[in-house]
Amino acid sequence: KIEVKSRPYYPSPRGGWVPSWEDAYEQAAKLVRDMDVPEKVNLTTGVGWSMGPCVGNTGSTKRIGSLCLQDGPAGIRFADDITAFPAGVTVAATWSKYHMYARGKALGAEARAKGVNIILGPCIGPLGRFPVGGRNWEGFGSDPYLQGVAAGITIEAIQSEGVIATAKHYIGNEQERFRQVFEARAQGWPNVTESISSNIGDRTLHELYLWPFAEAVHAGVGAIMCSYNQVNNSYACQNSYLLNGVLKDELGFQGFVMSDWLAHHSGVASALAGMDMSMPGDAKFFLDGETYWGSSLTESVVNKTLPIERLDDMALRIAATWIKMGQHKDFPEVSFSSWTKQQSGFVYQGTFSGPMDVVNDFVDVRQNHSVIAQEIAAEGIVLLKNFNNSALPLNDKKLPRAIMIFGSDAGPSPNGPNGCTDRGCNQGTLGQGWGSGSVDYGYQITPLEAIQARLLNRRGKKPIVEYSLSDTELDRTARLAETPGAKCFVFVSSDSGEAYLSAEGHLGDRSDLNLWHGGDNLIKTVASKCNDTVVVIHSVGAVLMEEWINNPNVTAVLMAHLPASESGSSLVNVLWGDVPPSGHLPYTIGKSLEDYGPYGDILREPNGPIPQDNFLDGLDVDYRYFDANGIEPRFEFGFGLSYTEFEYGNLTVAKVYQGNISSELPPAPDKLTVPRMDTEIPTPQEVTFPDGFNRLRNYHYPWLTRSQASAVEAELKSGNKTYPYPEGWNAEPRTNSPPGGGGEGGHPALYDVLFHVDIDVKNIGKKPGKTVPQLYITFPDGVGVYTPLRQLRGFEKVGVGPGESVTVGFDIRRKDLSVWDESGDKGWYIPPVKGKAVGEGYTVWVGQSSRRGGIEGKTTD
Ligand code: BGC
Ligand code: BGC
Repeated sequence: KIEVKSRPYYPSPRGGWVPSWEDAYEQAAKLVRDMDVPEKVNLTTGVGWSMGPCVGNTGSTKRIGSLCLQDGPAGIRFADDITAFPAGVTVAATWSKYHMYARGKALGAEARAKGVNIILGPCIGPLGRFPVGGRNWEGFGSDPYLQGVAAGITIEAIQSEGVIATAKHYIGNEQERFRQVFEARAQGWPNVTESISSNIGDRTLHELYLWPFAEAVHAGVGAIMCSYNQVNNSYACQNSYLLNGVLKDELGFQGFVMSDWLAHHSGVASALAGMDMSMPGDAKFFLDGETYWGSSLTESVVNKTLPIERLDDMALRIAATWIKMGQHKDFPEVSFSSWTKQQSGFVYQGTFSGPMDVVNDFVDVRQNHSVIAQEIAAEGIVLLKNFNNSALPLNDKKLPRAIMIFGSDAGPSPNGPNGCTDRGCNQGTLGQGWGSGSVDYGYQITPLEAIQARLLNRRGKKPIVEYSLSDTELDRTARLAETPGAKCFVFVSSDSGEAYLSAEGHLGDRSDLNLWHGGDNLIKTVASKCNDTVVVIHSVGAVLMEEWINNPNVTAVLMAHLPASESGSSLVNVLWGDVPPSGHLPYTIGKSLEDYGPYGDILREPNGPIPQDNFLDGLDVDYRYFDANGIEPRFEFGFGLSYTEFEYGNLTVAKVYQGNISSELPPAPDKLTVPRMDTEIPTPQEVTFPDGFNRLRNYHYPWLTRSQASAVEAELKSGNKTYPYPEGWNAEPRTNSPPGGGGEGGHPALYDVLFHVDIDVKNIGKKPGKTVPQLYITFPDGVGVYTPLRQLRGFEKVGVGPGESVTVGFDIRRKDLSVWDESGDKGWYIPPVKGKAVGEGYTVWVGQSSRRGGIEGKTTD
């Protein structure tokens, strides 16, 4: 079931009703009570693109100053002396909670040390419905549970450093194409009039796309970014059902909602619908000098259109989040500029004139983060094929006579690692996708360099090492590949990114799943001459491998994802077995794009002026679709080999919940009373520019001019100004929680642990290694609704020495066994089955992927 018309949900729930935020709200209320309306407005509105040092800068207030918002999910964008961490997809491929936390912590520490109040990550939408989706690589793979765990851990880690994390993009932003009208037009679709609408039914929303956001809120995330697209034909940043209803009421989100950059499309409507901060403050274009909020928001309050409680709530949410992270105690000043690498520059870059000052202090915030970055890059490498279990690892004592290296993806870009704006090209070895989620490299260790260094820095005899970095000079490639006794390494890639840039015809989303630069031909050419060909892929996600995967001369295949700076260094560690491969695919690799199903590709042509994308695939995305339709993937979700072998055994399932499990959620706990503000509405003249104020061009201010104020006064006097409130508008606060609601992340009982599962994991091979037991559940027969065959509900990464065995445990929570009630009445419920106790009869399967090496048990009463 899909929906093509979003439902109204009003008014916007005020923040402060969850116990863990009570103190922060109390303190924030004191602070906000002292602010006048223009100050509050300043908290809500960016001053304009490039008008401050960061990609987003709020107006300033006496107590809070101006907040710096900076990308992104994998490091501090547009900044010096920072770490370029491996991308989200690489982190997901590690399946390592330890590394998720370590990376988040390091990222938070770097953000803080640079003065970034709000980091614009993690990215947990797109979920990866489309394997070609341009920004999947920024997030954590195509499963909501994996994405949710990674999000929660990353957020806790970032925020433990006192930096506000942002879960983005909320929600349904699965494709880049048609995300913004001006982009779509520039890309050749002049007839598109509004952003694409993702039409999603409530159950699919809850069980897939919302799931990671719910986990993010449960982890206490401070900010959520609403996305460019529409959902059910209402813009995500003014969709009252999604912001007021789902996010703030049902999920109990206590932080603030910011718009994606230029995803804001209305003044009062978006405020009523629950948006709290407009970024970067501009209306239709960067630096257009217009804004939907700023002085207009002030005006809407003084002319009594927008209830002042809503403005108070926006300011309170932002201030409370700032206090909750401890930023009121001490927080470094911003010490970098996004707009120049030089020491001095414009203070207000967007004016292209005016005062110059020192804008870059070159504060080195890296500490030893290259260590964690390198570890993640290594653990995110997935070994897909290893002939006879012996093509890899390389052994220094028995090196081949010659090592031959092929492909542009092995070496440097002629223009250096930052040769293209926001990495919007694929030249040299690929370490990141492109767009706002990419980070300036401080350095990049290429595979060519690292392999050569490893081979040639040895004492004594050195092997022959030759290379060809051309993807197209296949004659030369063939000649080198023919070298007797050679082991050949072929490097290939596939890239994607954000739609404001395109590369080699890929407009953000990929055009297809093929390797770039004729990678298939390069591999086939090498493999036709070299009987020990190792393929290394750097990619944003799945690629097709059918032309060569079964070629016996292709002896090993590694999916090395996006390693960022530490590319070559991480790779050689795995090639030589110093770090055994332990990555697993966080998505499915199909044999063709068609194998992902009729809804597996993006909407490529607009099906009307407002492109409509009906999510008719429902719950069946990625492996769920392959499982439901009996399609054999090339490599299934969760797959990954090691240099050793593991065996799982002794699965036990124990009910740990005391008492009978109810099908439906118990009554929701009462909400705390939110702070009262009792603000009086100022007169229009009270919110005018201070005398003699010197205004910058295109900069957003919260004040009215005297003549604007007079006009509002006249309007108020005449009494005939009316505002067309949206359908369903209602100012009366709701007291009860909606179904499924009641706490931060939804009803607290959803997080109750019902069952505990243990298994034994044994290393039955001869080498040390790490394995990732993955727990999937299957609903019992007779639940009366469709449920996917298997759904991931637990994973752990463990290292085990040869011959050793360890016990690994998993907790299964209520929400892990629940479905969302499509009728909306019950919220989440555990479907009862005739003749069984509630919660009984689920199949618990723990495997080495979503299909292999598993053992199973059942939940019992
Ligand atoms: C992206 C966001 C990013 C923002 C600021 C937008 O285009 O979608 O992810 O945080 O720009 O750079
Ligand atoms: C900016 C990005 C932003 C994008 C939005 C680019 O110019 O660098 O931060 O996400 O425009 O269209």
